[in-house]
Formats: sequence, structure tokens, C-alpha cells
Amino acid sequence: RVIEEGGGPATLLESLKQLWEGAELSGLAESDPKLDPFVRQAAEACREVDRKILLEKERVPSIGPARERLLRRGEARAYLSEWAEETSVRPEPPLANALALFSGPPPVLFSRPCFILAGATAKAWPGALKESPLLKDSVRVVLNGESPGGPAGRLPLMADRRLQREALFRRLLAAGESLAVLSRAEGDEQGRPLERTPFWKTAAESGWIREEGSFLRPASAALPRPGEPFFPQVEPRPGEPRVVRRPLPPSAAREPGPAPKASLGDLDLWLDCPFRYWALKLAGFEEPPRGLFDPARAGTFLHCLWEEVWKQRLEGPGEPLPSLVERLWDPVLFDPDPRRGYPALGSDRRLSRRSERLKELTLKLAALQEETEDVFGPRRLAQHREYRMALELEGVLFRGRADRVEVMDGGFVVLDYKSGKVDPYKRSLQLAAYSAVLEDTLGLAPWGTGFFGHSDGRLYLALSEECPLRFPRGKGITLAKAGTLEASVEKAREGLAAMARGIRSGLYPASHGTATACPRCPARGLCRLGEARGEILPEEEETEGTGDD
Ligand code: SF4
Repeated sequence: RVIEEGGGPATLLESLKQLWEGAELSGLAESDPKLDPFVRQAAEACREVDRKILLEKERVPSIGPARERLLRRGEARAYLSEWAEETSVRPEPPLANALALFSGPPPVLFSRPCFILAGATAKAWPGALKESPLLKDSVRVVLNGESPGGPAGRLPLMADRRLQREALFRRLLAAGESLAVLSRAEGDEQGRPLERTPFWKTAAESGWIREEGSFLRPASAALPRPGEPFFPQVEPRPGEPRVVRRPLPPSAAREPGPAPKASLGDLDLWLDCPFRYWALKLAGFEEPPRGLFDPARAGTFLHCLWEEVWKQRLEGPGEPLPSLVERLWDPVLFDPDPRRGYPALGSDRRLSRRSERLKELTLKLAALQEETEDVFGPRRLAQHREYRMALELEGVLFRGRADRVEVMDGGFVVLDYKSGKVDPYKRSLQLAAYSAVLEDTLGLAPWGTGFFGHSDGRLYLALSEECPLRFPRGKGITLAKAGTLEASVEKAREGLAAMARGIRSGLYPASHGTATACPRCPARGLCRLGEARGEILPEEEETEGTGDD
């Protein structure tokens, strides 16, 4: 009738769908399991009609006057048959020589000649029965609440839930047309016994299944043995020698060749974990910056800014540091050289809050440095910025570059600018290593080391006992305990010697259990830390509880 009278594409398709629904096919197929594949295909076809109807409706506003045009008779038939020819439903999986794996329940009406249900334990079937297996209690409450005039509903009792679970279990058994294999582990990971599901017995007693017997397969036979069938893509070949994993903790090995150069600034990284050092410095496993803001680029910009600020302060009329920061901020920020500026931070509106905050923090640090000028200023003989150092130790060449070195009569203080807070650097040996080298190259005593933190606007100073400089406590300055600098320089010397020996050996062992950087380490998977800690892999977690993994 619709084809005779004519209609738009969506109307034709809706009528076609009504034909299917009116035929009540599910009622006809209900008592004939052989029709299951046909029902499945019909359901897929109906879904495809729905998709096409939706597409046609969404398209209507964009096709203008053409939407008024009706298709009738031959044209309507041609439209429907062309759509039918061009449309495909999801192909049936092959039925022979194939194995389908499901991580959850198989699709409705699924069946195969042989069906294997893993984890057929009492712990899983019926399981804890906290929720109704067919419909969550929360949904059921809503449904019951929506029909005040209807019969009073009730939530399923424990016995109802168990019955529903048993029905589902039996439906799964019926997925095996000729054979259903119920498998389970004898015990869980802790060795506690796992009982087989009670539904097994009731299914056999009621005649739902005919039990053909059972056998025990020891864990030693879990892998296929010679002569047994196996799946080459996922199982080891029978008789294949066992792969022996390398012992933990692993060591990375460097390609043979001359010992690579090293950086004095990487001493902390090496001492924390040589494997991480290898991953970051030799293998180049650096995590790319997340999001728009590039912390490395911002760090480079800040270093260049301070270099320029101090240059103009000491070579000029003595303009205050906050005023210099204000004046030089934009010229350095917008320097197109990626080794100096970070123009996107100033021009990208999405980074404007970051940029404002960073400037605020930098001005705070400028004010703090102005305070320290009361101590450094009168004694300063020279200031070195981006000062390059080199040291050859045990055949390894170390290089380094100090952000700022204040040279005074008899001693020096080496200072470093950090983007973050100063706290993580309280145990750092980076500046102590610089001091050990500078002591020889400058011929002066190391009087102190200091980290400036942009994030907290603080200065952490470690001064030697012979240092005559007197900094005020508080006001953003933290002084380390007496003796800290001397001990750190000693540790840095020993650390550099150990690092040189390690680099020459070509082996970079992972420091499982002692490294502090593990939570944010990009080499975490490579160094098998999780394995060493006995962590369960995500895939194993999924099957936890069935005892079948
Ligand atoms: S995760 Fe920890 S132990 Fe492994 S490489 Fe990184 S720092 Fe070293």
C-alpha cells in the first residue's frame, strides 16, 4: 500500500520494518532452535534498517526541496532493492575449524557444536548473588515505582536470584549443541579448594545434560604436550624449550664502543637508578609533554631570562631585579630561538593563565634575590653565568653548566634555578658535584650551594662551615644544617667515581626497591618493576576469582 501511495525513503523503510514486526517471527522461531541463526540474521537486518532510517531523517534538513519528493511504485521498489543489495549485515563467523573466545557471556542465542565454559565453580555459579543477575535492583525499583496503579512489585529474594542464575547457567550449557565442557580450577591462587558448581548436578539430575564423565588435568599438563592439538598463535609449541627469563633486577647494556660522555647534572639520576639513566639519556625514552604547556621549554626560557637579567643588572646602573624582569620578560619570551624563548607561552590564549602565574612567581623570586644581594653584592668579585665545566674521571668525560656562580675573595657559591619547588632538591648532589669540579678549576673553596624554586619562590642554601656569608633566616630562605655541604661534596665525589665505573662497565642495573623516581618513570614497564613486586597484570586481574588463570 505504501509503495502504491508513495513516500519518502524514511517512510518506505519504516513500513518495511513494520512488516517484519507484524510477522511476529520470534513467536514462530521460539520452538525451533534450528532457526536461531536466521533469527540472529533477521535481528541484524532490523538493526540496519533502524540505522538507515535515522540516517535518512538526519539527512532531510540538508537536502532542501528534494525532501518533498515521493518515491512510488517502480521507483520505490528500485530504491528498496538497491538499498538491500548495497547493505550488508555483520557476517556470520565461520562455523568450522574456528574457535570463538568470549571474555564475557556469548551473544544471545549463541550456539556451537562444542561450547566450553571456564570457571564453573560454586564461587562463580551461583556466586555471591548480591544483585539480581537479570535486572539490577536499582532499575527494578524505578520500574516498580512507575506503575502505582498496577500490581505491587517486589524485589527478587535470594531464592529468586539463585533461580535466575541457574537459568542463565543452563542457557550457557545449551550453547553446546553436541557437547558442553565445564572446566574449573581445583583451587584458587592461595591453594584454597574451589568446589564445582551445584548447578552441574541439578542439570544432570533434571535431564538437561547427560554427564559423560570428568577428568583431572594437573597444572603440569596445562601446556600442550607433544602430539596434542594446540593453537600456534597463542600457545607454545609442544616440546619447545622453556624460555628462561633473565633474573631480576634487570640490567640494560650499552652498545659496545667508547664510553659515552656524561653530564655532571645527571649524577642524581644515575645514583637513583642506573637503568632509568640509561632509558632517559642513552635510549631516549622521554615521556612527551602532556597538554599544551611544555615544561622543558618554559625551563629554558627562565634560564635565559635570569642570564639576561643578571647581565643587565651587573653591567648597567644597578636597576632592581623585579624591574628588570618586567622589562626583559617579553623580549626573551618572544625570542624565536627555541634554545631561548617560548613565544607560544605569550601568544597562545589557552596558556595565558600559565604565563601570568609564571611571571608572578618569577617576580617573587626576583624580590628574594634582591634581598640576597645585601649579602652577595658587597663581596662579589665576579659572577659567572651558564658557566661550563669539564672533568675526566676513570676514562669518562663529564661536562656540566652551572646557572650562576658567585665568586668572592676566598670562596664561591654555586646557584641553580629550578622550575618546581626546592624541597625535592634538598638531597640533591648536583650542585655538590659542580662544587667539587669548581674547587679545582677556580682554585677557591666551595662556600655554598643554593637552589631557587620558582614554584614556591624559595631559596635552599647549604653553606660550608668556613663560609663568612650571613644570610637572614626566613624571608623565603632555608639554610641546611651545618656540615651538609661538606658531606654532600664528599658523596658527590664518590658518586661521580661510581658513575664513571658504571658507565665504563656498560651495564645499567635497575634499582628495584631503592629508586625514588619509580612512580613517574617512563622505563617502569621495561625494568619489570611490577614483576619484581609481584603485581598482578590487568588481564590476570580480570579472571581473578575464577581460579582459572
Ligand atoms: S621504575 Fe624505578 S627501578 Fe625501574 S627503571 Fe624506573 S626508577 Fe628504575
